[in-house]
Amino acid sequence: AIDFKWIRENKDLVVANIRNRNSSADLELVLELYEKYLALQKEVERLRAERNSVANKMKGKLEPSVRQALVEEGKNLKEGLVALEDDLVQLTDRLQQEAQSIPNISHPDVPIGGEESSVVKKMVGSRPEFSFTTRDHLQIGKDLDLFDFDAASEVSGSKFYYLKNEAVLLEMGLVNWALSEATKRGFTPLTTPEIVRSSVVEKCGFQPRGQNTQVYSIEDTDQCLIGTAEIPVGGIHMDSILPDSALPLKYVAFSHCFRTEAGAAGTATRGLYRVHQFSKVEMFIFCRPENSNMYHEELIQIEEDLFTSLGLHFKTLDMATGDLGAPAYRKFDVEAWMPGLGRFGEISSASNCTDYQSRRLGIRFRPSLDTSPTNLKKGKGGNSSAPTQFVHTLNATACAVPRMIVCLLENFQQEDGSVVIPETLRPFMGGLQVISPKF
Ligand code: AMP
Repeated sequence: AIDFKWIRENKDLVVANIRNRNSSADLELVLELYEKYLALQKEVERLRAERNSVANKMKGKLEPSVRQALVEEGKNLKEGLVALEDDLVQLTDRLQQEAQSIPNISHPDVPIGGEESSVVKKMVGSRPEFSFTTRDHLQIGKDLDLFDFDAASEVSGSKFYYLKNEAVLLEMGLVNWALSEATKRGFTPLTTPEIVRSSVVEKCGFQPRGQNTQVYSIEDTDQCLIGTAEIPVGGIHMDSILPDSALPLKYVAFSHCFRTEAGAAGTATRGLYRVHQFSKVEMFIFCRPENSNMYHEELIQIEEDLFTSLGLHFKTLDMATGDLGAPAYRKFDVEAWMPGLGRFGEISSASNCTDYQSRRLGIRFRPSLDTSPTNLKKGKGGNSSAPTQFVHTLNATACAVPRMIVCLLENFQQEDGSVVIPETLRPFMGGLQVISPKF
């Protein structure tokens, strides 16, 4: 249920937002299709009314010739109606398709511009100092026998990897640690399907098709591999009305993520930094609209607490319009110091998607009892017949495993070639304190 009426009434705002977002959405085309849709819908309704009126006329006693004329008229109307209804279905599909790319509006405080305009909200820790020549995670992994990129390249292709030895414990440990931290904070743990319908991918605001799609589609099906657990978690309450009392619904999901990384050339791509398949623990919240800004702050706070407890040096950014995905109203990224890159690299992202996804996925709630003092005094006993509203959705990375492994190996490397495991993680890795050279 995209609100085309709102879009039409707020055209200037939507146009400016499309420009600020660097989006290729074609608003003129969408509005043109919407006008056509309204006109066609009106015509279909007119024909339906006319057909009903003919049917009503046929109920009484009629001269055979009159009846025959009415039968003929009814038949013609029906044929015309079937054709127009067919056109309406096609036009609706086209309208929805074109409208998919119109981005969410942006929070008024979001900085306008490209990536360089993003604003640092917070800086934690300080750059680690090394008294020896540091190695990047690829070299450390080689020296400690933690990965096999060569075999993965033969078996799967470039940007795939095998994790080996302690790196496997690291992956499992990081996943369990992130799940347990979020569960402690009231999130319900989930594992999810990793193959979903293309329509759900679209409704979450991702483009499953097209030249630069990040989504792997499965040939001869209408299904895709997920790029993030945000998609199956967003879909878990598709087409439903949630009870007000159930909100907020907080989930933490483990999944593998699959990304084509089309067009990623030129950005950091070495080793584990940018790969086609990775494990991720993702937080997701469904809430009442008035609370989404508050939960956005809560999500970024959880991320900052998690990364602080690992001892990372990082900064939180309020991302500029040009760097927001279509569904996001506002996005906070965390970038951690990566000695191998010699700069900060993105490790997590938290987005408030307001009603962008819920409108498309059809997720509503019915505001329940209004227990405000005035309402109780009037003896109304609440307002359970209030109209339904769309929930707001938010998503945030708790732990994207490969980039976390990059951070841990590079920041906690020692002169003797070993890597110290942060204390927080040790209970999730069978007490392992140090990854040491094998020979
Ligand atoms: P996103 O869902 O795009 O916001 O990504 C969430 C997090 O996953 C990012 O902050 C990165 O830490 C990580 N990530 C994204 N893409 C990749 C990739 N291709 N390879 C490894 N990690 C990735």
